[in-house]
Amino acid sequence: MISPINNVQIVHPVKLSLQQLSEFLDWMKRHTCPRCNQHFTHPCNFYRHKKQCGIEKKVKCDICDYRCHRKDSLKMHMVVRHQIL
Ligand SMILES: [Zn+2]
Ligand SMILES: [Zn+2]
Repeated sequence: MISPINNVQIVHPVKLSLQQLSEFLDWMKRHTCPRCNQHFTHPCNFYRHKKQCGIEKKVKCDICDYRCHRKDSLKMHMVVRHQIL
């Protein structure tokens, strides 16, 4: 007769040590935008965001209140919103 394996110990998640916690907070800080406090899990997104965050949105739509950073975004907006090429 085969006895079921029922003596497997349930391993509780390891509690973070203070060192690990401060490292984690450090990591959080490094990936949080100082301007708008937005948090990013991926560094790539963060760097891309940092380039744009705080920069005045220079490109503006003449027809509506739409503003953006890039001319090609405005072009897209013109086509999608106003059907202007
Ligand atoms: Zn930001
Ligand atoms: Zn517009």
